[in-house]
Amino acid sequence: MEGSVRLDEVVMRFGDFTAIETTSLTIESGEFFSFLGPSGCGKTTLLNIVSGFLVPSQGQVHIGGEPMAGVPVNRRPTAMIFQNLALFPLMTVFENIEFGLEVRGVDKKARREVSERLLALVALEGSGPKRVTELSGGQKQRVAIARALAVEPRVLLLDEPLSALDLKLRQHMRAELKTIQRKTGITFIYITHDQGEALTMSDRVAVMSAGRIQQVADPMTLYRSPATGFVAAFVGETNRLEARLIDREGKRIRLDGGVLGELAGCAGEGVELGNGERVALYVRPEHLKPVSADAAGPRLEGDVEAVHFEGASVMLETRLSASGETLRVQLGHEVSRQYADSLTVGQRMTFGYDPADAVV
Ligand code: ATP
Repeated sequence: MEGSVRLDEVVMRFGDFTAIETTSLTIESGEFFSFLGPSGCGKTTLLNIVSGFLVPSQGQVHIGGEPMAGVPVNRRPTAMIFQNLALFPLMTVFENIEFGLEVRGVDKKARREVSERLLALVALEGSGPKRVTELSGGQKQRVAIARALAVEPRVLLLDEPLSALDLKLRQHMRAELKTIQRKTGITFIYITHDQGEALTMSDRVAVMSAGRIQQVADPMTLYRSPATGFVAAFVGETNRLEARLIDREGKRIRLDGGVLGELAGCAGEGVELGNGERVALYVRPEHLKPVSADAAGPRLEGDVEAVHFEGASVMLETRLSASGETLRVQLGHEVSRQYADSLTVGQRMTFGYDPADAVV
């Protein structure tokens, strides 16, 4: 059975409160797919609808092309890894991994074969006889993965499984999870509020806000062509500047103060924007670079208010002369060395950018 997941016009209400607005989406078999969004946006609710812990108020879920209405949690081709892992602390690693198989009546020899194979997959060979309490956080994480895989799910649902780990280990486990996913070919549905996690591991990401999917795209597209201001601000860092529309030509927009930008993907060609209309321009700190005050193209001028040395780069905070807004500018190693003399508080600087990198 293949592991695609399809949501057809799924809605979830809790009393009067709508936690999930009408959502339709197909996750391909073998895809590493993440739901990314702030706390309370409905990620866990969506995952619980796929796993069967929640029955949607409206709409249909199909897994592997089969309708899931009326199919209980334990009959679905899914397994779940929770934030707290929910391992049995007093049992051994073997017993934890084999638990689901034992419940299904698989004999001991066959069970052990499966757990040995999975321990090798998660790089924990030889740890089978250990008790869970003897393991480190990262090792427990791997046992939880092995246990979930033991029942041969077509879809693995992961609810912020790395959030309890320290930064180093979390980064290591990201790579590990991605490798395991690739090796097994199982569909992974991952939920997180951490954009770094979502961007590094996923084939595609759905960015959510307040029960609504804002954009579904591969990580690079999300970053380069955010469909909404919410996505621009949530995925990576961005400056939000207020401006008034002067005129537009296709997607290219001219704003007051000689500022240029491009209409966001979601806005598209059909949007009616009248001259003089107030809009927001999003431009990322790393897309700004120092230019001379009379340079061609869009220019933003301001006084440096703070200089933060961040190792590989320098972050400037600049107060824009025209609007008083704060502009954050990230300069890479080469550029910050070239402009070393100007990188002091009180300096007036002008920054330019490629209009294609600015989203209106
Ligand atoms: P977090 O990252 O904090 O877990 P989340 O994005 O997973 O957040 P959900 O747990 O899906 O968010 O919750 C979405 C919204 O639905 C929240 O406002 C929450 O309070 C509400 N909610 C979730 N479950 C229930 C429930 N059983 N009854 C009532 N409201 C609920």
